[in-house]
Amino acid sequence: MQLIDTHCHIYADTFDTDRQEMIERALKEGVNQMLMPAIDTETHKAMLRLEEQYPGTCRSMMGFHPCSVKANFEEELAIIYKYYEERTFCAVGETGLDFYWDLSFKEQQYQAFHKQIELALHHNIPVVIHSRESTDECVRTVKEHQKGKLKGVFHCFGGSPEQASQIIDLGFYLGIGGILTFKKSGLDVVLKDIDLKNVVLETDAPYLAPVPFRGKRNECSYLKYVVQKLADIKQISVEEAAAITTANARKLFDI
Ligand SMILES: [Zn+2]
Repeated sequence: MQLIDTHCHIYADTFDTDRQEMIERALKEGVNQMLMPAIDTETHKAMLRLEEQYPGTCRSMMGFHPCSVKANFEEELAIIYKYYEERTFCAVGETGLDFYWDLSFKEQQYQAFHKQIELALHHNIPVVIHSRESTDECVRTVKEHQKGKLKGVFHCFGGSPEQASQIIDLGFYLGIGGILTFKKSGLDVVLKDIDLKNVVLETDAPYLAPVPFRGKRNECSYLKYVVQKLADIKQISVEEAAAITTANARKLFDI
C-alpha cells in the first residue's frame, strides 16, 4: 500500500526530538511521500532543510498561511516570490482565509490569497487552500480565478455536501484527514456520496490526530487510520481506497 500525506507540517519543532523515527514510522506504513505546506518566513528554513534531507520523500510547497497575514504581508510575499525566481515547488500554499482566529486582517488575507492564486496560475502548480470558517468565501474567490487552468485542494475539508459539490465543480480536490474519524463530525455522511476521484488524503500533522489518537500529536503514519475509515465508509478495500487517493495526489501535485 502506498500513501501520500498531502499536508503535514513535519518541520514543526514538536518533532525535533524524534523526527527521523517519525518519518521512518510513516515509511513503514507506506506513506512514502509527505508534502509540506509553508506557514511563513519563520519556518521556511526548517522546511527546506527537511526537503533536502529526504529528497523525493519530503516535498516543500511555498506560500503564506492566512493566520500569519499581518500588516506587513507584502514583505512576506516578496520573500516568497524570490523563492519562485530560483525554483518551483509542488504547490503554492498554504494560503486561503481564516475567519476563526482573527478578523483584523481580513482584507489583507484576501489580497494575499488573490496574489497566491495568481502565483499558482503563473507557475501552473496547484494551490493549497486553508478555509477555516470561510469555505464559501474561498469558493467564491477561486471561482473568480477559475478559467479552466486553476487546480488545487481545499485542505482539511469539513463542510456540507453543497460545499463539497461546489468545490468539485471548480475542479478542486477535497483534502480529507483525521476529522473523518471523529464521532459526530458528519464528514462520513458527506463522503458517502462523493466519488473518491475527488479526494486526497492528509494528516495536517502535528494537528488533528485521528481516532484513536485524537487530541495527541499527529504524525504521518496515522494516515492509515484515515484511509481505513474512508474504505469503511465507501465499503471498499483499504488497498483500493489507498490506490485511488494516491493516484489523485500524484496527478494533482505532479509527483
Ligand atoms: Zn496546514
